[in-house]
Amino acid sequence: MVEQVVVIGAGVYGAAVTAELARRGARVTVVDAGAPSDGTSGATFSWTNSNDKAPRPYHDLNVAGMEAHRKLASEVPGSDWYHEGGNLDWAADDSAREKLRRNVETRKSYGYEVRWLTREEALRLEPDINPDELPADEIAYYPTEGWIEPTRLIGHLLSTAGAEQIWHDAVTGIEVTDGKVRSVQLASGRKLPADAVVNCAGPRAGDIAQLAGLNLPMQNTRGVLIYTSPVAVAVTRVIHAPHVHLRPDGAGRLLLHTHDVDDAVQVSPTGEISADPAAVEKVIEAGISLYPGIRGATVESVRVGERPIPGDGLPVLGRAPELPNFHFAVSHSGATLSLYAGGLVAAEVLGEDHSEELAPFRFERF
Ligand SMILES: Cc1cc2nc3c(=O)[nH]c(=O)nc-3n(C[C@H](O)[C@H](O)[C@H](O)COP(=O)(O)OP(=O)(O)OC[C@H]3O[C@@H](n4cnc5c(N)ncnc54)[C@H](O)[C@@H]3O)c2cc1C
Repeated sequence: MVEQVVVIGAGVYGAAVTAELARRGARVTVVDAGAPSDGTSGATFSWTNSNDKAPRPYHDLNVAGMEAHRKLASEVPGSDWYHEGGNLDWAADDSAREKLRRNVETRKSYGYEVRWLTREEALRLEPDINPDELPADEIAYYPTEGWIEPTRLIGHLLSTAGAEQIWHDAVTGIEVTDGKVRSVQLASGRKLPADAVVNCAGPRAGDIAQLAGLNLPMQNTRGVLIYTSPVAVAVTRVIHAPHVHLRPDGAGRLLLHTHDVDDAVQVSPTGEISADPAAVEKVIEAGISLYPGIRGATVESVRVGERPIPGDGLPVLGRAPELPNFHFAVSHSGATLSLYAGGLVAAEVLGEDHSEELAPFRFERF
C-alpha cells in the first residue's frame, strides 16, 4: 500500500501532483534543489491553450488541462492566478496565413472554440493595438485561452496541501532494490523512505530518471522572456502577432516572447545563461510597433527558460513498467497541462486506473 510519496521538483507539476496526492490522503514529501518555481515554471509564457496541439489525444489532454484551471479558479475564492482573456493570432504572409487557416479548421473540427475577426472587431477587444499592424480580416480569436501566473498557483497548491516541504536540497540518489524504489537520497545527507516517487524535475527529469536506472531522452530548448516595467496600455489578453507574442504580467507589466529569438540565448564559459541584448531590443521594437503606448516602458528583467521536452515532444506521464513505484509527470506545455495531468499521475500512484487516458503518454514508448 502506498502511504509515503516523495515528489521530486516543486514547479507546476510537482505542486499539482503534491496537492492531489495530499487531497487523496497520502503522506507527501516534496523536495526541490532550489525553491518552488525556481525552474521553468518561473520563466515561462504560461499561455493556457490547445491551439496547435497534435495528435488528437494530446489536444484532448490540453483541453482537459484548460478545463482543470477553469474549475480550480471557480472553486477557490481570490484565485486570480488564472486569466481566461482569450488569444488573438494573425499571420503576416501567405504561407503563414494558409497554415493559420488549416489550424483554425482543424480546431473547429475538434469542437475547439475559435472564430475569425475583422480588424475592427479585434480593435474593439484590444483598442491600443496599432491598426496598421492588423490585417483587414482573418484574425483568429480563441476565447477560452488565457494564461496563468504559475508562481502564485504553485504557492496556492503547496500552501493548502499540508505536505512536508524540503527546499534547497537536491536529490542525489535513488535507492532501488528488487525492482522497487525504496528511498530518495538528498545532498544534505538526508534519506527519505518512499513507497512511491514522482519525477517532476522538469528539464532535469532525465537526470532523475538516470538515478533510478531509467533512460528518459529529453530534447529541451531554451526561450527568452522579456518583462517590461508597468505601462498604461490596455493589453488584456494573449496576443500572437507575427513577430512578438505578449500578454499582461501583473501590475501593468507586460511579458514579451517570440520563438524568433530562441537562438539568442548565450551560455558563458562559466555556465551563466543570458540573452543577446540585440535580440531583446528587436522583440521590444516589435512590441512598440504593435502597441505604440509601450514606448515608455523599460525592460525590468529578461529570463531564459528551459522547455522540458521529452524525446518525441509528447508528455511522459505515469508509472515506469520496469519500476512500478517510480512515476513521471514531465512535459512541455506544463502550464496548461500540469493541474489535470498531474492529477491523473497522482491518482495512478494511489492505485486508481487511468490506463486509457495515460496510454499515449507512457514512458515505455521510448
Ligand atoms: C520560453 C518558454 C515558454 C513557455 N510557454 C508555455 C506556454 O505558453 N504554455 C504552457 O503551457 N507551457 C509553456 N512552457 C512550458 C512550461 O512552462 C513547462 O512545461 C512547465 O513550467 C514545466 O513545469 P515543471 O514543474 O515540469 O518543471 P520546473 O518548473 O522546471 O520544475 C522542476 C523543479 O525540479 C527541481 N529539480 C531539478 N532537479 C532536481 C534535483 N536533482 N533535486 C530536486 N529538485 C530538482 C527544479 O529546481 C525545479 O524547481 C514554456 C516554457 C518556456 C521555457
